[in-house]
Amino acid sequence: MADCELCGVARPTLCPIKVDVPAYRSAFPTGMWMGICEECTNASHKANGLRSKVDGKKCYLCGIKGVDLFSTDIKIPDFSEPYYKDKRRLLCGPCLEAAENAYNIRQKEKAHASHH
Ligand SMILES: [Zn+2]
Ligand SMILES: [Zn+2]
Repeated sequence: MADCELCGVARPTLCPIKVDVPAYRSAFPTGMWMGICEECTNASHKANGLRSKVDGKKCYLCGIKGVDLFSTDIKIPDFSEPYYKDKRRLLCGPCLEAAENAYNIRQKEKAHASHH
């Protein structure tokens, strides 16, 4: 089990995304691997299509400051009705694109799996 980097939910499998983290650039010059759950790849895909700019301090994933940030609406599972909470995460363009890649890979995997 690993925790999703966006919603914090523990899942048996996560979709790997490569994130360029400015603070760790010297240790990981080509980016760091992070894991997000399938629900969050769907949310990021939607957010990447909408690209609704919001005011914010830094990207939730890579922590970059001073760039355009986009609203990503995710749902966090909850124990009481309606069993989830709406949360907004702010992501930068490159992180949205990284999540979009993970989304596309996941959709391909699913399409492939359904052929068997
Ligand atoms: Zn998630
Ligand atoms: Zn970012």
